[in-house]
Amino acid sequence: MPSISFEFFPPKTDEQRAQLDRAAQQLKGLEPEYASVTFGAGGSTLSYTGDTVAHLHREHGLTVAPHLSCMGGTRAEISALLDGYRAAGYRRLVALRGDLPSGMASHGDFRYAAELVQFIREHTGDHFHIEVAAYPETHPQAEDALSDLRHFKAKVDAGANGAITQYFFNPDAYFRFVDDIRRLGVEVPVVPGIMPISNFSQLKRFSDMCGAEIPRWIAKRMQAHGDDVEAVRQLSAEVVAGLCRRLLEGGAPGLHFYTLNRSRPTRAVLELLH
Ligand code: FAD
Repeated sequence: MPSISFEFFPPKTDEQRAQLDRAAQQLKGLEPEYASVTFGAGGSTLSYTGDTVAHLHREHGLTVAPHLSCMGGTRAEISALLDGYRAAGYRRLVALRGDLPSGMASHGDFRYAAELVQFIREHTGDHFHIEVAAYPETHPQAEDALSDLRHFKAKVDAGANGAITQYFFNPDAYFRFVDDIRRLGVEVPVVPGIMPISNFSQLKRFSDMCGAEIPRWIAKRMQAHGDDVEAVRQLSAEVVAGLCRRLLEGGAPGLHFYTLNRSRPTRAVLELLH
């Protein structure tokens, strides 16, 4: 099996906490390299991310990677988080810009993720293995595809060790992205972010927001199955496992799963990969 990692989000209610525990319990047996936990923009979930990584580490024995987004944050706040994570013994981070929540006017002390990566290196040296975000289909706010590639390179030049991509369903977008950054002299591993499909209408809404394209043939097949939950599940697992297979055959160094705190869709994909 390739190296795999799982992404979770911080639960906020008892029900969500129980759901995360069930997912972690079932997924940890697949021996992920690490589990990452997202970070809500605007500072409101500062402690949720820290509490969740601590829980996954202590209760489930997982190697953890807190996400750290700088949008809206100050140098003092980010320093305090870094100090806490270092003291806890964590060695990995996913460093992001994040998005400004609606109604929030100031972007804080950092404008772009590259500035955050540079600050992490200044503050903690080589302690952390830092992943950054990559966009094979171009970040939705990018001026254009080429400047987006240059901005990606800036994050690696600032000290990132690797990247995880936004999810996508077209493997050629990933291969092209990797070829393009290699031509720019970027050598770090780029791990594809994989979204196991569990709820197609939710996925469509989300994909519109984050600029991920759902190929027409996938949308049409999903729509044809309508409310037939079992058929949709089966098709989803086959489509995503097929994508993973092509990515690994083409040289992808691992797979990072957006679990959405559910184990079943991710396990269904991985079972087909064995
Ligand atoms: P950046 O790399 O800073 O890029 C953002 C935009 O600015 C791009 O369009 C880029 O081309 C442009 N840009 C960069 N530098 C410059 C410059 N110098 N001049 C002009 N333009 C520039 N969001 C969260 O809030 N919390 C999370 O936990 C989280 N986890 C994520 C995990 C992964 C693997 C991925 C792929 C995304 C995640 N996101 C998360 C979403 C991410 O925060 C958003 O996509 C955000 O809009 C961009 O973040 P970034 O780190 O890619 O930003």
